Amino acid sequence: MNYRHAFHAGNHADVLKHIVLLALVDSFKRKDSPFFVLDTHAGRGRYLLSSEESRKTLEAEDGVMRLMAQPQLPELVERYLKAVQADNPVGAMVAYPGSPLLVAQALRAQDRMAACELQEEEAAALKALFEHDGRVGVHPGDGYAMIRALLPPKVNGTKIGRGLVLIDPPYEVQDAEYPRILAALGETLTRWPQATCAVWFPIKQRRSILHFFRKAAALPIKSALLVELLVRPDDSPLRLNGSGMLLLNPPYQFDRVLAPAMPALKTHLGEKGASTRLEWLKQPA
Ligand code: SAM
Repeated sequence: MNYRHAFHAGNHADVLKHIVLLALVDSFKRKDSPFFVLDTHAGRGRYLLSSEESRKTLEAEDGVMRLMAQPQLPELVERYLKAVQADNPVGAMVAYPGSPLLVAQALRAQDRMAACELQEEEAAALKALFEHDGRVGVHPGDGYAMIRALLPPKVNGTKIGRGLVLIDPPYEVQDAEYPRILAALGETLTRWPQATCAVWFPIKQRRSILHFFRKAAALPIKSALLVELLVRPDDSPLRLNGSGMLLLNPPYQFDRVLAPAMPALKTHLGEKGASTRLEWLKQPA
């Protein structure tokens, strides 16, 4: 196992992303009918936190571990911490579960997930992780391109109506990622119009994100909800000041589901000037 991504795993951005992700999955579980999750940028599924080299600068210490130290937290946050703890020995934090593992832990027998990963080594780790889980398909390659092959989702030739597409790219190309995301969202909604889509985005300087929001809100969707956590003011372009999730077609009244968790995230993960945002970009009709 290598430790390439362990430095970031469990940081404030992962906390926000994974709390929202689990809340989405839980909302699908209110009905018995199956749902499908496509994770276009899945990563390796589990990140070790316990090596000497990663101990030096572990971002989880200012993220998930700060929450672990709190005696009482909102239900949504507790639910997330339980999911992280489920992948660890009692009382210890040696690994951080990534999005596909968190989702897989929550799937029922009738639900399905497809996880795409471009980097060979990461994809191999992911394949090994889900080797014995028939509900999870691992697809090495470009997650954006895979949308065409995997949507609309089907099980044994029958379409699955409900579900989620998580788009969580590394933004290595910075702002050039946004046109790719918009194209992927357009393709997704053409193939699977009722899909819920969740896009993670970093907040360094707000200017660059606004154009993306405008374009996304103009897609053929019923609603768009924005969730953000800024751990410090967004005036330093070189640091990850915060992050957000843009949710297209979220479940009914999903803002009310998330709202109780937001003040706790700001208090426990934020520095001076921290803030949160929970706002409809497009109100449900
Ligand atoms: N979603 C994961 C989680 O929450 O645990 C983390 C994903 S990490 C931010 C982004 C991942 O996307 C990296 O593992 C990277 O190798 C992979 N990646 C980069 N470009 C990709 C592409 N075009 N298709 C699929 N995966 C890609």
